[in-house]
Amino acid sequence: MIVGVHPLAGFDRILHYKVPEGLQASLHVGSLVRIPVGRRMALGVVGSEGSPTDFPVEKLKSVVQLIHPFPVLPPDLLELAKWMASYYACPLESVIEAMIPAPVRAGASLKEERWLSLGEKLPTDELAQLERRAPQQARLYRFFLTQMFPLKKGLVLQRLRVTSPVAAALVKRGLLKEEVRRLERVAYADDVGRGEAVAAIPPTLNREQLAATEAMAATVAEKCFQVSLLHGVTGSGKTEVYLHAIDSALKAGGGVIFLVPEVALTPQTVARLRSRLEAIAPNHRCVVWHSHLSEGERLDGWLALVTGEARVVVGARSAVFAPVRDLRLVVVDEEHEPAYKQDETPRYQGRDVAVMRAKINRAACLLGSATPSLESYSNARAGRYRLLRLTERVDSRKLPFIDVVDMRIEVARQRGLSALSRRLVDAMHSRFEKREQTILFINRRGYSSSMLCRKCGHVEECSHCSMAVTYHRVDETLRCHLCGDTRPAPVRCPQCGAPDIRWRGLGTQRVEEAVRRVLPKARIERMDADTMARKNRFRQILGEFRTGKIDILIGTQMIGKGLDFPNVTLVGLIDADISMHVPDFRANERTFQLLVQVAGRAGRGDRAGEVVVQTFVPHSETIQFSRQADFEGFAEAELRMREQFRYPPYRHLIHHLFRGPSEEKLKYFSEQWARKVEAVFGNRLELRGPSASPIEKIKDLYRWQLWYFTPTVSRIIVELNRLRLEFPWPEDITQVLDVDPANLT
Ligand code: ADP
Ligand code: ZN
Repeated sequence: MIVGVHPLAGFDRILHYKVPEGLQASLHVGSLVRIPVGRRMALGVVGSEGSPTDFPVEKLKSVVQLIHPFPVLPPDLLELAKWMASYYACPLESVIEAMIPAPVRAGASLKEERWLSLGEKLPTDELAQLERRAPQQARLYRFFLTQMFPLKKGLVLQRLRVTSPVAAALVKRGLLKEEVRRLERVAYADDVGRGEAVAAIPPTLNREQLAATEAMAATVAEKCFQVSLLHGVTGSGKTEVYLHAIDSALKAGGGVIFLVPEVALTPQTVARLRSRLEAIAPNHRCVVWHSHLSEGERLDGWLALVTGEARVVVGARSAVFAPVRDLRLVVVDEEHEPAYKQDETPRYQGRDVAVMRAKINRAACLLGSATPSLESYSNARAGRYRLLRLTERVDSRKLPFIDVVDMRIEVARQRGLSALSRRLVDAMHSRFEKREQTILFINRRGYSSSMLCRKCGHVEECSHCSMAVTYHRVDETLRCHLCGDTRPAPVRCPQCGAPDIRWRGLGTQRVEEAVRRVLPKARIERMDADTMARKNRFRQILGEFRTGKIDILIGTQMIGKGLDFPNVTLVGLIDADISMHVPDFRANERTFQLLVQVAGRAGRGDRAGEVVVQTFVPHSETIQFSRQADFEGFAEAELRMREQFRYPPYRHLIHHLFRGPSEEKLKYFSEQWARKVEAVFGNRLELRGPSASPIEKIKDLYRWQLWYFTPTVSRIIVELNRLRLEFPWPEDITQVLDVDPANLT
């Protein structure tokens, strides 16, 4: 038997090996093996059976070891890996490594414990006989006569000073029973049911939920690939639809992958899902998967899925690679989240990979959001995805009232920029008196370097690309991140002539100080990057907020995801438009998403909520559409703009980054390369740049970039790769391709 193996050894090729007699029965496509590569040993994944065409078979080396008795990469995942490698222009090896958790690659297995308990009762005369013939066995047996529960084998043997063969003899005769228990570390197990009001009784579905649920049940039953986009306003009960779909898949004997953004994997959501899943399918373990797992937890979860012991995984982005058996359903919650994009090799978009995984497995895919990505929405409009709608909040609760505060007036009134408008201060006061809670959001995703006029709200844009430009202090210029166009920065606002049009963002700390000044008696907590870094502090603050020990919570939009605080009746957005100044054609989309999601946090209980949005551009379309939570309206307007500029979703975008120690050389070669690409691709590819990257230098390496717009990816990537190999790159220039990047920054 000869197999082709993908070595995990730093080069992207398939190598062939002989399989020794003894391993042939248990070795399959997808097995993890140890192989000799050159003079070293390496790990590899068996990719195919059969001989090489270009190498004499007698000269092949042999597989040395089979690491696990089961394939670590089932055929569906191998196929997915190949697709990803070609679509995202990354080494197959890097994808395979991302798919197999490190402890599995290390060959670790579950920690096992052996337990002993009393077996058959021995009549007295036989016991006497045993005492004479095998006194040690008798001692061990007698010990268990007085024990009510199983005991750990190791401990008992140690205490009674008997050896393992002694126990084995008793087990063989049936006098003792031995069982193997696997040590499992279930992530977040400690939090389940503790202090969380977990609704185990499913609510009665409303009409729209029922329709969506029935549609999904039918799809799951058909066992064919179909993508459904569930557009449900915040608080419309999308989770119930997911849960029912999961139920259908499990009842049909299939497995489920449920993806959520990493930040949404709070103990609260996990506990809620767990308890409901366990109610649906009492015999099923649900594996939780995220980046904070210990190696042991990761391994346990992974093995439970591979062996089929668990059929559901709830996890962040990389759970899309979970080795779930008989995959029937893939759910992607908050599918619009940029967090699904991985920003290091392999650079993939988790949502799109989820769709592909479902396609390969002929499974149903359910994408859900209150603010779908325009990519998914346009797929739905074109009929490629089925659109399911939840237009009403459960119990017909009203969407919160959104109060848009014009900060231009506020600046004039307060003579300078203050973090809090009078409207917001009044609203916080009244909540504090009523013992209701407030969340203040600070928008951190932005630059302190955009040009915004505080008098008229004007934002400087690139005339070619219809997106905000960035201010560069060093040479006092404005630069476009897409086309590289550069011009001198104006000293006064080009629209109203006001001086000082440079925007400085407000940090969480400054906002906290301002809040303390106006509400000295309130209990205030701040959650920012520092607090987020410490996992337990983050959970602790959320816990205190939930139990009412905190009146006002200040933080970035991260705290807004997937959390449900019934006593929050006021949400303030300190600087709504920072995300509109981000130099990215998706700036409006991100702002709309932010506003709608943030507003969704208010008034989740039986009280009505209020949202105060502070902005310098109160009349902008994005602010107005989000005020009505009018997704369709927003999407139509935004898609028109995208179509006009042929931005995604009308074309794909590919980012090409070059890095090197000499700026001159880098510039020269990226320009040469750009010319070559233009000559070869002609009008099949639109090119912007080359230009210096927003961050021009990292760790002594300069960075230049190019953008490609293209209607199709796969063929372009094949050709680009071929061209890259032919091009005379200097040794010290490295490059990265990023297909469908989530951000332009
Ligand atoms: P979404 O994800 O759409 O914002 P959720 O799924 O979090 O909304 O649901 C919001 C709340 O409404 C949850 O507490 C949920 O238990 C509850 N809920 C969902 N469906 C119903 C229903 N049909 N009747 C009553 N309550 C419901
Ligand atoms: Zn431009």
